Amino acid sequence: MREITIDQVDTSKYDTIIAGAGAGGLLTALGLTAKGKKVLMLEMADRLGGVWHGYCVDGYRLDQGLHVITRVKRGAFARFLRTYLDPPPEFVLHEGWFFRVHEKVGTIPSTVGETLRWPLTGAKGRLGLARIGAKIKTMKLEEMQKHKDITFQEYMESEGATNQVMLDVMQSAIYMAAGVPITRASAYEALRTLKDTDKESTKLQSAKRLIFGGSEYDEGIAIGGMQSLVDRVTEIIDGDYVLNAQVERITEENGQVVSVTANGHVLEHATVVSNIPLWSMPRIVETQNDTATDFFKKWDHMEFTKGVTMWFGLDEVVIGDRKSRVIVHPRPEAWMISMSTFDPSCAPEGKELLGVATILQEGKTPDDMVKLVKENGLRSYHPEVIDHIEMEHVQSSYATRAALIPGQTDLDRPGPETPIKGLYIVGTDTAGAGVGLQQAANSAEGVLRILEGRI
Ligand SMILES: Cc1cc2nc3c(=O)[nH]c(=O)nc-3n(C[C@H](O)[C@H](O)[C@H](O)COP(=O)(O)OP(=O)(O)OC[C@H]3O[C@@H](n4cnc5c(N)ncnc54)[C@H](O)[C@@H]3O)c2cc1C
Repeated sequence: MREITIDQVDTSKYDTIIAGAGAGGLLTALGLTAKGKKVLMLEMADRLGGVWHGYCVDGYRLDQGLHVITRVKRGAFARFLRTYLDPPPEFVLHEGWFFRVHEKVGTIPSTVGETLRWPLTGAKGRLGLARIGAKIKTMKLEEMQKHKDITFQEYMESEGATNQVMLDVMQSAIYMAAGVPITRASAYEALRTLKDTDKESTKLQSAKRLIFGGSEYDEGIAIGGMQSLVDRVTEIIDGDYVLNAQVERITEENGQVVSVTANGHVLEHATVVSNIPLWSMPRIVETQNDTATDFFKKWDHMEFTKGVTMWFGLDEVVIGDRKSRVIVHPRPEAWMISMSTFDPSCAPEGKELLGVATILQEGKTPDDMVKLVKENGLRSYHPEVIDHIEMEHVQSSYATRAALIPGQTDLDRPGPETPIKGLYIVGTDTAGAGVGLQQAANSAEGVLRILEGRI
């Protein structure tokens, strides 16, 4: 893809205009390129990628956020990159989740046997966990869907599963995916996260896995960092992009999209894919069509997830393993990964890059959260980390644009089509199961399926 200025744009050269160049927009453009189509991307910021990007600080290569990519073997995000990038990107699988509750550490049990030996609770708690674990692991997707309008906490209470340690650990796992606590997360989305399923397997297969184990982590870290992926995707896309191009209007006439206005330039086109957050769309879409007005208005209060990521450059290797270590207590929940153990190229030789993520709590600033994480979990359980910090960098931004709460599950979100002909929507708040990049990729796949044969 080539960078041009807005006054160089000749819209007749493109098969579609893509408004916004985040993960959803870029992956859509990548798929269109493979079908021989040419795109024009209009991006408000001074770089491509949206919240999907990375940069360097003092010799350490950081991502925007602690990106553990889910479903690196079977998911849409990895599928896009494997299909279109040559050589395909490499993902290193992580070695599991380790939850610390005060002095005790345990993994997520994947079999009945492991559950009955779970070190984090007493015998009663283990039996309760075995019962609810079996129920969740063998639950059919349709049954989960029935719980989309209640919270996970409500679901657990209705099942009598109220062991506090079990709830706290589940909360920590779900927090990282849904971006909200279990008192707010949709039970359907939480159940899917815990069962780790997009597609249904039979009850018998689920039961077999439950008893005999064999669950393999399908989450990993991309070697080379997020920015290298964004750069490779950008290089392959056929078309042009304009940076600092704020889309001010997308105009409809007689039910059909006719133009996009950016920086005061009216760019006429009959196919537009918008990767702009849905909460901005009511102010951008210019339409006389009541159905379209109502459609976009419905989403203008979409709730997003907000995280704080702390990056610590350590002057020597302190943690040095490929685990997701979650500190459940003391609060706040903090999730830490030694990025340089997966990919040594992100830290200077002999040093370690540690990513620590937490959720931005209401009424707190990112600095408050850093202080809390350091003074609570890190100081108590990993004081050696604090003693070896030579680089410290804090980020805070939205992660996904739709928190997985009742009313915003993938079943509730609008999907790629809009009531305006030729206008499609893509991004983590449109539709697409999963979280983060997986959601963005699923939404891009949805748009590509619809555009097939239409342009
Ligand atoms: C802290 C953090 C941690 C994360 N961790 C993970 C993880 O572990 N695993 C995972 O899979 N994902 C993770 N992600 C999430 C993932 O990176 C994002 O969910 C995904 O990149 C969002 O894609 P999107 O399509 O919704 O686009 P966005 O990133 O929202 O991009 C939208 C683009 O549109 C542009 N735009 C907006 N308005 C306009 C306008 N009017 N005109 C022109 N352009 C406009 C924006 O500038 C932006 O570039 C994380 C993200 C963060 C920030």
